[in-house]
Amino acid sequence: MRIKRLEIYGFKSFPYRVSLPFPPGISAIVGPNGSGKSNIMDALRWVLGEQSLKRLRVRSAEDLLFAGDHGRSPGFAEVRLVLENDGGVPEEFRELPEIVVARRLYRSGESEYLINNRTCRLKDIHYLFLDTGVNPRGYGLIDQGEVGKFLERSPQERRFFLEELAGVSRYRANRDETARN
Ligand code: ATP
Ligand code: MG
Repeated sequence: MRIKRLEIYGFKSFPYRVSLPFPPGISAIVGPNGSGKSNIMDALRWVLGEQSLKRLRVRSAEDLLFAGDHGRSPGFAEVRLVLENDGGVPEEFRELPEIVVARRLYRSGESEYLINNRTCRLKDIHYLFLDTGVNPRGYGLIDQGEVGKFLERSPQERRFFLEELAGVSRYRANRDETARN
């Protein structure tokens, strides 16, 4: 699955509907400090089902709703992630060229998840991404400062991190288990 577009509305610093295109290849998001770059990462994590407010860098769920004054106050926050379907998804989604995952939060506190405009459970989102490596906690999303921390680690710690990333650590655990028996 490849990200085609991320649409954000009423979420954090985005009072207007924005559509961020991600064409094939490398995309970079640049901007001055405080302009909302990390908020875009938060939007991506949030739509993938992140539950931890700390990881979303807010104190309460309400802080996810746009709170500035632009002469407007969106009634809800919505993030839509448009993915190109390359087939590595559960059977029922296989025929669809595009998969749109969305999450909404209303000022009332109610929230919902949607797959292709149909309300679903968070569980369905997890199921959709099962075995694809797409996961709000996965190593696919690397936070600000993480690269610096990585460089400061010892060679052993770096190796451990890379093995986790490559999925080798599970095999190593199996090997050690076998060696002991
Ligand atoms: P840096 O380069 O310093 O990492 P950044 O581009 O990553 O900056 P963000 O952390 O994404 O910046 O954005 C921070 C901005 O988002 C702040 O100005 C903050 O006021 C604004 N912001 C966060 N939550 C909301 C909200 N609920 N409503 C309005 N603005 C918000
Ligand atoms: Mg940032």
